[in-house]
Amino acid sequence: MLEPSTPVQFVKGIGPKLSEILAAKGVSTVDDLIHYLPFRYEDRQNPRGIAELQMGEMATLIAEVRTSGLFRTRRMPIFQLTVGQGRSRLKCIWFNGGYLKDKFQPAQLVALYGKVELNRGELQLVNPEFEILGAEETAEEKAAESLEVGRIVPIYESAGQGRLTSRWFRRIIHNALKDLTPELPEGIPAAVRRRLSLPSPREALWKVHWPTEGESLHDLQSQRTPAHIRIIFEELFFIELGLELKRREQKTKTGIAFQLNDRVREAIKRTLPFHPTGAQKRALKEIASDMEKPSPMRRLLQGDVGSGKTLVAFEAAIIAIENGFQVALMAPTEILAQQHYFSARRILEPSGYRIVLLTGSLEDDRKRETRRHIAQGNAQLVIGTHALIEQRVDFAKLGLVIVDEQHRFGVMQRFKLMKKRDAGVGTGALARPAEQSSPAEPDVLVMTATPIPRTLALTLYGDLDISVLDEMPPGRTPIVTRRVGDERSDEVWQFVRKQASAGHQAYVVYPVIEENEESELKAAMKMYGQLSKKIFPDLNVAVLHGRMDADLKEQVMRLFQQGKIHILVSTTVIEVGVDVPNATVMVVEHAERFGLAQLHQLRGRIGRGAGKSYCILMTGGKVSEDGDRRLDALVRTNDGFKIAELDLELRGPGEFFGTRQAGLPSFQVASLIRDRDLLELAKKEAAAVLSGPNSEISQSEVDRALWQMRTRWQKTYGLVEVG
Ligand code: ADP
Ligand code: MG
Repeated sequence: MLEPSTPVQFVKGIGPKLSEILAAKGVSTVDDLIHYLPFRYEDRQNPRGIAELQMGEMATLIAEVRTSGLFRTRRMPIFQLTVGQGRSRLKCIWFNGGYLKDKFQPAQLVALYGKVELNRGELQLVNPEFEILGAEETAEEKAAESLEVGRIVPIYESAGQGRLTSRWFRRIIHNALKDLTPELPEGIPAAVRRRLSLPSPREALWKVHWPTEGESLHDLQSQRTPAHIRIIFEELFFIELGLELKRREQKTKTGIAFQLNDRVREAIKRTLPFHPTGAQKRALKEIASDMEKPSPMRRLLQGDVGSGKTLVAFEAAIIAIENGFQVALMAPTEILAQQHYFSARRILEPSGYRIVLLTGSLEDDRKRETRRHIAQGNAQLVIGTHALIEQRVDFAKLGLVIVDEQHRFGVMQRFKLMKKRDAGVGTGALARPAEQSSPAEPDVLVMTATPIPRTLALTLYGDLDISVLDEMPPGRTPIVTRRVGDERSDEVWQFVRKQASAGHQAYVVYPVIEENEESELKAAMKMYGQLSKKIFPDLNVAVLHGRMDADLKEQVMRLFQQGKIHILVSTTVIEVGVDVPNATVMVVEHAERFGLAQLHQLRGRIGRGAGKSYCILMTGGKVSEDGDRRLDALVRTNDGFKIAELDLELRGPGEFFGTRQAGLPSFQVASLIRDRDLLELAKKEAAAVLSGPNSEISQSEVDRALWQMRTRWQKTYGLVEVG
């Protein structure tokens, strides 16, 4: 008997060597193995006789290899295989089929699937898919053959450079299912199963691998048979259950009930430099209502670049400060922290709020002094980088933590952070209660500029409440985006010059990706040299890149912000959050090398003021098909959500978040792109289960669901604790 938790190594026919190959595919237990789903199915229910084939049809055929050979034509090598059934023969050809040269042996049985075409008066299969069914006449082989023909056959992705074939998986998984313990736990309550017509776990597993006769091939291919739905839904359901539980737990914790009286409202009104947009008003209302409640706020503020998140954050800060608490604002980079500090001083200082900046580049004396101000409660708003504030900073009375540009954190990191906080240590010493007697946790507002598609946000941030800024501040003219080949760079620079003489500023961005940092940085510096000496010798051109001293970076940023630099040549360090409304031009060199979301983020640096803004995407050399789609999407739309959706489709969720290690949960079977509908459903049903027990769901069902959720989470997230 195999338990789901048994390592695959102990499945008959696998062993230590092959289990290594499987591990690389993410298959390490029996449970993983039986969830290694076919990526497609082949209908071999009614294999055809050669004699009855019709021109133009798609046909499955089981036949015996007769002869094979490679022919070279002037254009390409063609591989030709003749198969037979009794006295009938059929020719199959593969263009560019050199790789098939030694593949077939006479008398082997093969399954072929492809289109029947007429060639020189003769029916043929052209480029058919095939599988060698074998020739050995052992009894075991014979029995196994029934897995290959006369049914809808599952096709698996092969592994280990083809060592583990689809056929191999078919047998191994078949055997594993046969030996599987009959006691598979059912964690989904009966009412939910009924509502969604979900089969039992065992039935679902059998049917995704071995569809019964007459199953819709279309539903199979799109993974939407009841069996598929059960398996995919199940995975998402338990993730959502865990997130929902975390969320509810947060609500039972003791936080701070801030007061939102007329005095506080007045303070906000007095301080605001603009009329907030409708979206900003709505977000603030949601935030304020969280802050008034005695449970700690855990809210995500999501808004496209330039949607005005900072203003909302400042408003929230005022609520906390007016209630006598301190606020920590954490940014991912020093430049960004610096910038928040500038705007905070501009907007908040006139009202007398005391703001400090805590950055790594401060002299030790200053750092000590700043920390003292924080510890004594003099500093009301503390701005710094994540790294800095997460270390030991003693706050006299911390009430609100604002984390900017959270998308750089993945789920895993966030879980770690939260876990720390749960343990009472907080983000560093951050959440330590002011007086030992009050265990109140500070409120947390997380801001992200990545317009995460809603369903994805549900998974990623399922334990947070979400506010969205879906409206831009008024008076913006949409950014005009163009793409040009770099052979037209002269024109581009002329245009930049024109804009500069009109009093505007420009960014020129050069891609420096980590793998090639050294050489690309060199190229970027070379370009900077050219721009500053040859092309714009009369303008102030400066350079900004990640390897520069923090001091120098700050200085450059400040000069640019003050308008003293006309053209800022930079690597992607300006990607996040930089706000200089007078900068109206952005030229991106080698735009084809950037990701879609990244380009959109970059572009968000312009179009922030009233002046019309231009983004010029220059390409050097040949652009790939995907590259074309990315660049064209940017030219077509400014809508961050549309762009995010497309990006997600082009790259998949891992890449979407910048790096593969972004900490997305890796799913066994679900796909965030394909299964969005099921994700929504899973979230809804998970919430319903946690609201139980009720007339639909019994206490023991709730317990069982929670138990199974914990076991799964343990596995997916390692030591993360839920509930
Ligand atoms: P992001 O959401 O990308 O962080 P910011 O907070 O930096 O955006 O705001 C972008 C720009 O819009 C800033 O220059 C800011 O001063 C301006 N802004 C924000 N809210 C408003 C508003 N309600 N009316 C006019 N301008 C606004
Ligand atoms: Mg911002």
